[in-house]
Parts: sequence; C-alpha cells; structure tokens
Amino acid sequence: LLLAYDPARRLARLNVNLGKQIVGLRLMYELVDREPAMKDTEASRDLEVRGGRIELKDVVFTYGESAALSGTSFVAEPGKMTALVGASGAGKSTVFALIERFYDPASGAIQVDGEDIRSFKIASLRSQVAYVGQDSFLFNISVRENIAVGKPGATQAEIEEAARSANAHDFIARLPEGYETRCGEAGSNLSGGQRQRIAIARAMLRDAPILLLDEATSALDAESEAKIQSALEKLMQGRTTLVIAHRLSTVRHAYKIHVMDQGKVIESGTHDELYEHDGTYRRLCELQFQSRNQAAE
Ligand code: ADP
Ligand code: MG
Repeated sequence: LLLAYDPARRLARLNVNLGKQIVGLRLMYELVDREPAMKDTEASRDLEVRGGRIELKDVVFTYGESAALSGTSFVAEPGKMTALVGASGAGKSTVFALIERFYDPASGAIQVDGEDIRSFKIASLRSQVAYVGQDSFLFNISVRENIAVGKPGATQAEIEEAARSANAHDFIARLPEGYETRCGEAGSNLSGGQRQRIAIARAMLRDAPILLLDEATSALDAESEAKIQSALEKLMQGRTTLVIAHRLSTVRHAYKIHVMDQGKVIESGTHDELYEHDGTYRRLCELQFQSRNQAAE
C-alpha cells in the first residue's frame, strides 16, 4: 500500500482513523515513529460515549524539555462546536494529540463524560474520535476505498451517501473512473479542496460521536470553501466538535471559543463576548482582518 500523500508524521493520525482494523499500517507507524506507545492495562474498559462532553483539567505536557501545555483547562460541551484559537505554537494541536492519546499529560487529566480517558482501551477511545485535518492524506487506492477507510466493509450505497453529504459525489462522479479512480496517480490529481471533501466523507461514514477538526489555514477558492464549510456543518451535527479554527467565519458560530496562549487557555466566551472584552481574541480578529484586506488589495 503506497501513500499518495506522504507525511510520515501523519501516520499517527492514520492509526487513529483506522483504529485496530488495519494492523499493517499500525506497524508502519510504529516503525517510522518512536513515540512511546500507549498501552492498555487489564483494567482498561471500552468507552461508550454518552453525551461526549470533553474536559481538560489543568493539563501539563512537555515534549522532552519544551513545555507545550502548562495547565490547560476547558470544557467542550456535548453535541456543540467548541473552537480553539491562538497563535502558532500556543498548544492547540497538542490538545488534539492528547485527546487521542498519542501522549499522556505529565499532570492533570482529560475526561470524556466525566471519566479519565486513561481508563479506556486506546482502540476503543480512538474509534469514538474522528479527525479531519488540513493536510488530509489519501492512500494510493481508489476513491471508494479511501472513503471506506472510515468504515471497513461499507456498502457502495453507504459510501455514496457519505460522499453526497460531504459535497464530494458530484466531482467524484466526473472523475475518469468515478469511484474507482485511484487517488494520487498522474491524471487523477485532486485539488486540496477535493481531498478534504473525501476526508470529510470518510469521517461521515465513520460516524464517531467526537470530532476533531483542524481547519485549513491556506486559502481555498471561494467555491471550494463554501462546499467544505457546508459539508463540515453537516458532519458536526450532533457531535461534540473541537475545531482548531483559523477562519473567523467558523469561530463566529462556535458555542464557545477558548483562546490559547503559551499552553494555557487565557480567554473563553462566545465571539461577541470575547470581542467585547477587547483582549487577545479581539487582537487576533483585527490581525486577520488586516491581512485579509492586504491580500485583497
Ligand atoms: P499550535 O497547534 O497551537 O500551533 P502546537 O501544539 O503544535 O501548537 O505546539 C505547542 C508547542 O509544542 C510549540 O512550542 C511547539 O514548537 C512544540 N511542539 C509541538 N509538537 C512538537 C513535537 N512533536 N516535538 C517537540 N515540540 C513540539
Ligand atoms: Mg497546530
């Protein structure tokens, strides 16, 4: 199996998305990356998500020497969209990595529905979490198989339904061999926006109650952006969603926004509350408007 998109460091994500179904890929991850593997214990249980409320309680985490999280606390309410914003290096992606248990906190705790995630089997925890990233990778296998990664054994009808919800069906149908077109081969190059919609379809099919979304920073064309946005809105319905948000339009609709700085949450509220408060969030907004206006000039 060849990776059409090459990120060795993304193999960790791959492991998350596949759970325990595809062992070979998991082994690949362990070969290329020597991160300490988390282990189940005899007491580990299956996670049965009820509401899907996520809480970080004073989480401290360092990569080797460098502090990444220095006492992060926040709640993501069940079924709502919660946004994490903040400068690059603030610790946002690290929060995702800890929720998926690529690492454990040095101190503090992460809970799902009030229980420490360390009490669950790792495969079980990861099976309840779907991740859609800005650099969503596709394998060099067919579009159909790339979507089916979300649910091995899915029927063609299920795959198409997921693709329709992700606003991906129409462009897939126009590919040279439709759903059987291989991703990554010369001649079937997909745009970033198309790749992302395939990744959304995969997450749709996966149907996990917890969704982690790392929003794209790079500007997509307006049409792609609108299609992705509406696909993501469908995907988020009824799931606890944590989004690392770069676009103001996303943040505006968030149930709650947490502003991170140097490994801590320094402000929390809705867009209006935080804007009114005239702090870091407002400065981030103003910076974004400035750079958009400059880009438009
Ligand atoms: P953000 O997503 O907000 O940009 P990150 O969570 O990626 O922030 O990073 C938080 C801090 O941890 C930064 O100082 C970053 O350089 C550091 N960091 C992130 N990933 C690693 C890693 N794999 N190894 C070492 N340091 C890392
Ligand atoms: Mg990041």
